[in-house]
Amino acid sequence: ATTTALLEVEDLSASYGPVRALDGVTLRADTGRITAVLGANGAGKTTLLRTISGLVRPTGGRVRLDGEDITKARVESMVAKGMSHVPEGRGVIAELTVDENLRVGSLFRGKVGKEEFDRVYDLFPRIAERRDNHAHTLSGGERQMLVIGRALLARPRVLLLDEPSLGLAPKIVAQIFGLLRQLVDSEGLSVLLVEQNARSALSVADIGVVLNLGRVVVTDDARTLMADEQLRHAYLGF
Ligand code: ATP
Repeated sequence: ATTTALLEVEDLSASYGPVRALDGVTLRADTGRITAVLGANGAGKTTLLRTISGLVRPTGGRVRLDGEDITKARVESMVAKGMSHVPEGRGVIAELTVDENLRVGSLFRGKVGKEEFDRVYDLFPRIAERRDNHAHTLSGGERQMLVIGRALLARPRVLLLDEPSLGLAPKIVAQIFGLLRQLVDSEGLSVLLVEQNARSALSVADIGVVLNLGRVVVTDDARTLMADEQLRHAYLGF
C-alpha cells in the first residue's frame, strides 16, 4: 500500500552556538504510522522535535506538513495546522484537577467541543476516573496519559512525542504505547515518537530512524532494525 508523507523533513540542520545539534536530517512521518526516532543521549532527538515545531530556528533545510512549507511558521500556528508537540517532562499544573488541566490546555487549541473532551476520557479511562483529582496525585503514567490527552484535544494529524516512557515502569510503557497504536490504527494519526528506550519504541513503531551526533545513521522497518544486533549494540543500547 502507498502511504502519504504527512510530515517531511529535508536536510534539516540546527545549532546552539557552535554546537551543531542537527546535521542534515531527512525523514518522513506517514499517516497511520508510528515513526520512532532513536539514539543515545545528545543524538539530537529533542532538537529535531523542537525544530520541527518551530521552537528552534533551523540553520538549513525544510519542514513540510501535507506539502505546505512550514519551516518558518510560528510555533503558535502549528496546532491550527494540525501538529501537536508533547515535550519531555509531563508539564501538568499540580494544583489543578485533571479536568481543569485539560480545560486549560484546550485554551491554546482553538475551539474544543465537549465531544473532544469525552473522546479523550474514552481513550484514557484511567484519566476519566481521576478527572476531579488534583494533578499532583497522579502517577507518572497517569500524567503522561494526561499530557497526551491534552495534545489530542485539537485532533492533530501529527503528534510529536518526546520520550513518553521516561521513568515509567515497563508495564505502564507497554500500556501507553498500546493506546498510541490503537489511536494511530483507528484514526490515521501520524506519530513521531522520540525515545531513548529503543526496544519498547521499536516494538510499537512501524519505522525507525536512528540518529547519532545529529545525523541519520539508518532508516528502516522497525522489525528490521530490531533484528540487527550490530546496530542495536552500536547505537540503541540493547
Ligand atoms: P536527550 O535524550 O538527552 O534529550 P537528545 O538526543 O534529545 O538527547 P538533544 O537534546 O537534541 O539530544 O541535544 C543535541 C546536542 O545539542 C547535544 O550535544 C546537546 O548537548 C546540545 N544541546 C541541546 N540543547 C542545548 C542548548 N539549549 N544549548 C546548547 N546546547 C544544547
